[in-house]
Amino acid sequence: MLKVVEINNLTVQYPDVKALDDVSFVINQGDFLGIIGPNGAGKSTLMKAFSGLGPASKGEIWFQGKPVKFHSPRDARNLGIEMVYQDLALAGNLPIAQNIYLGREPTKRFGFINRIDHKRCLEMSQEHLDTLKIHVKNAGQKVEDLSGGQRQAVAVARATAFDANLVIMDEPTAALAVKEVSKVLELIKRLKSLNVAVIIISHRMDDIFAVCDRVMALFHGKNFAEAYINETSHDEL
Ligand code: ADP
Ligand code: MG
Repeated sequence: MLKVVEINNLTVQYPDVKALDDVSFVINQGDFLGIIGPNGAGKSTLMKAFSGLGPASKGEIWFQGKPVKFHSPRDARNLGIEMVYQDLALAGNLPIAQNIYLGREPTKRFGFINRIDHKRCLEMSQEHLDTLKIHVKNAGQKVEDLSGGQRQAVAVARATAFDANLVIMDEPTAALAVKEVSKVLELIKRLKSLNVAVIIISHRMDDIFAVCDRVMALFHGKNFAEAYINETSHDEL
């Protein structure tokens, strides 16, 4: 099994609190790892460690067998590590396609200048939405006209549109109406076919049981327990 990311003894210290305390784990290609823990456990800090947004830290992150340092979200993106933030960070006034390609638009040469190739952007977005069976009117629809679940789906589409190696999602169902939760979980399960590694951060145990193969429990910044989903239960977690 190809190892995608290995975290070794990661410790992140804020002035008043150790947000992560000596956390280690490995995630392989195709792995779906759930990270669960109460408020303040360090879940978001763990995600930020991949984007250079957190405070200085000790320990190492290895990517495909090499140690890496992240100074900005772009560094992670360049390695195919994508984040789906809790607030989704979508531009409501722009169409779905432009949200998927924001900052990575295909270009076309017009004489001496490169311009964004909107037609290709639209076509490729539509193709990706269809692959993931995401139901919207079309890739030209504005994000502000979508339901919460559809927006979450667009954020997932954006994270997987460029051959990602690892997708990290922070609370992907927290903001959703009950009937949309199962749709988003079904979508996350379909990512299995892309052979991408996925980390799902959630405080909802049902989400983790529905889509993950493995679960890690964070508590006061420590990797408190780790188990395969089929070898544990709600109660034990
Ligand atoms: P979770 O996402 O599991 O709720 P966080 O990673 O957000 O937890 O927070 C872990 C700990 O770090 C908490 O005690 C929190 O108060 C603290 N923390 C998070 N962000 C900051 C920050 N920017 N400055 C200081 N302390 C922070
Ligand atoms: Mg959090």
